[in-house]
Amino acid sequence: MIPGPVMCNSSVLKEMSKPVMSHGSSEFIEIFGDSLRKLKQVFMIENGEVFVVAGSGTLAMEMALVNVCEPGDEVLILSNGMFGERFKEICLRHRLKVDYQEVKKFGDCISTEVAKNKLEEKEYKAVTVTHVDTSTSVKAPVKEFGRIIKKTNAVFIVDGVCATGGEEERMESWGIDVLLTASQKAISVPPGLALVAFSRKAVEIHQERRNPVDSYFLDIQNWRNVMNSYINRKVFYFATPPINLIYALKTSLTEILKEGLEKRFRRHALIAKAFREAIKAVGLEIVPLKEDYAANTVTAVYYPVEVEDNAFRYGMLKEGVVVAGGLGPLKKKTFRVGHMGNVNSSDIIATISAVERVLFKNGYKVTLGQGLEAAQEVLNKL
Ligand code: PMP
Repeated sequence: MIPGPVMCNSSVLKEMSKPVMSHGSSEFIEIFGDSLRKLKQVFMIENGEVFVVAGSGTLAMEMALVNVCEPGDEVLILSNGMFGERFKEICLRHRLKVDYQEVKKFGDCISTEVAKNKLEEKEYKAVTVTHVDTSTSVKAPVKEFGRIIKKTNAVFIVDGVCATGGEEERMESWGIDVLLTASQKAISVPPGLALVAFSRKAVEIHQERRNPVDSYFLDIQNWRNVMNSYINRKVFYFATPPINLIYALKTSLTEILKEGLEKRFRRHALIAKAFREAIKAVGLEIVPLKEDYAANTVTAVYYPVEVEDNAFRYGMLKEGVVVAGGLGPLKKKTFRVGHMGNVNSSDIIATISAVERVLFKNGYKVTLGQGLEAAQEVLNKL
């Protein structure tokens, strides 16, 4: 129950052990093409271009930035935690000028007013937002940001690593220009794939660059022919694709679309709500300061004074539930539970049950069953 990498379905894992095919074989061409077409559906785009390359979410973040920005360009970063901070590091490494807007207290969320004021003050080449910051479990108002950014020339870049495939996220209708994610979270595939989509506007901006992209591997110019060829059932080589991960991706995307995105968003929302209600019922506090912007994919929870991080997580492990510790300033003060991908109501009930017992064993006064009762009320609606 960590916020990624998540548990994968056995149907997806089986794909990883199949024979490695040639990237030019007709079977693989069909599988890769199908994956790319399905990925567009999951990203909710009809136009624009999708890219699947070997790498993790960080590579996807870098791929988004380096293709639309050039040294000296101004980037506005709206940050709700450590992964917003990572955008800053990447920008600085690529000699971009950064206007870094962060929250005063972890758990707060950058408001649309702040974004609006910033965008009225200055022209930016790009604005970056982390849809769900996995360190704080705060969900940014991406749809509202999209409305504001659409009125400017800025390219809207969204990190969907802890959101895409779990949180409601509609790339095209919300005006997102670059959406990036990775395979190991709500997409429910083992780690190793960076998944990035560029809108028409983002591709045009890339084509009008003054200078070439300062990364050979990440330049979408090198990948466009590859992706377009596979979509059109042809082969084109730039760099060897991660064959078995792409089999797994195809299977997982098929399962995601079979469940249906709207149903999937609702499942994530209800399971997250059940967990938050349980946490409230046992008297603990979540990191997001307001329920409005609490994520549906992960929840960060403050420990009560009686409970120590290592003892708690080891206790959980002994109960068969793996949870994550806190990140950055929240290290040792919080634990995080991932509830994305294939997580179902039984998984969350088992987790809440273990949380109650481990808190109790560690000296925290809790009436066993209180959290479970609160969660059941919510899950009944699923
Ligand atoms: N963005 C977010 C929101 C994340 O949660 C993570 C990983 N936890 C990353 C980016 C970086 O992804 P990766 O670890 O796959 O490089």
